[in-house]
Amino acid sequence: MKGFIIRVSRHYRRVLLQSFSDKEYSYQRYLAAFFGLIGSVISFAMGINSILIDLFGLAISLFATSLLLFLSFLLLMSDKYVRYHNGIKYMALVALLSLGAYLIHSGGVDNSGPLWIYIFPSVIFAFCGFKIGIMINVVFCAILILILYTPDNYFLSTLYPVAFKSRLVLSFSTTVALSAFYEATRHNSYLKMKRLKVKFEQESQIDELTHLPNRRGMRKKLREAYRKAITSNQVFTLAVFDIDHFKNVNDCFGHEIGDEVLKHVSDVLSDGIREQDILSRWGGEEFLLLLPNTNGEEAFPLLEEMRKLIEKSHYHKANEVITITFSIGYCEMSDTVSLSEMIHLADVSLYKAKQTGRNKVLAHG
Ligand code: GH3
Ligand code: MG
Ligand code: MG
Repeated sequence: MKGFIIRVSRHYRRVLLQSFSDKEYSYQRYLAAFFGLIGSVISFAMGINSILIDLFGLAISLFATSLLLFLSFLLLMSDKYVRYHNGIKYMALVALLSLGAYLIHSGGVDNSGPLWIYIFPSVIFAFCGFKIGIMINVVFCAILILILYTPDNYFLSTLYPVAFKSRLVLSFSTTVALSAFYEATRHNSYLKMKRLKVKFEQESQIDELTHLPNRRGMRKKLREAYRKAITSNQVFTLAVFDIDHFKNVNDCFGHEIGDEVLKHVSDVLSDGIREQDILSRWGGEEFLLLLPNTNGEEAFPLLEEMRKLIEKSHYHKANEVITITFSIGYCEMSDTVSLSEMIHLADVSLYKAKQTGRNKVLAHG
């Protein structure tokens, strides 16, 4: 039971911290901090004004709101309190809305207090986003109606004309509706952009012809594999495959058939690798294979098998039969070589394989 509770609390902590790293959250955080600062300065100035005209009740609520808003500004700007930011945002909102309710109740200076409530809808949406924003705005509308229309003006310490009350409720509700529409549009465009960004990022890492990871995508996977191998104290092997005399295929059969052959070999290689291996199109007619948790000794028979597989898998087109062979160079991970040095050493072995007759697998060293 204890373990279950710990797992659940860890999960929610992770979800919470992930949401804090989200751009939308960052937007809400800085906007809330900005409103906190501006609201604090304005309510402080209004508090001073209220003292000057002997409205002490109003002055106290304005100073209290100013203090709370300034506190929320300081806390929202500090990374030290990130996990409390949601609570702080709501604290600032409660302070602001309480002040709004008080302004409606008291009328503020010459009954002009309710004018301030028009800034609330956009502030609420900026603080809480669309869904929670709608709920809080509706609750505030209900509070507004309650204060204005309770029989015998029970919640009012001032008198508003009947027409003023109905206009206030109607115009405030319209402002809420317009702000909600704006927030929904903004949020939808943000989500659309986020989805497009993910799509473009994925597409930029995939080779169009073979649908394998391209060099950019593979670099990312290599960095991940390198980090994982170091932390789990394992080794991996990198192998560079280069088609022999591929230029001849293009020269004899044309570039389109050359492309078909590239697709063919990438399919054969993809079928031949183990589940954990990652194959990529490293460039032109070169493929890079990552063999996780595999040392050089274990890699050799696997690579040799793939070399034979390709040699046997002739490419057929009409009457033409094209035989493809690969030269393969590989390098095992060690403490003394970096990732880019590994690729370079695998390339050096590939070069040797080319120079010593092609269609062979050679290790570094
Ligand atoms: P070697 O055995 O020394 O590797 O000889 P090679 O002919 O394979 O190597 P070379 O570097 O001389 O030529 C590579 C050829 O690969 C030239 C280039 O036109 C072709 N090539 C690279 N990318 C593509 C592609 O996407 N499609 C096609 N059809 N050909 C490509
Ligand atoms: Mg090449
Ligand atoms: Mg080649």
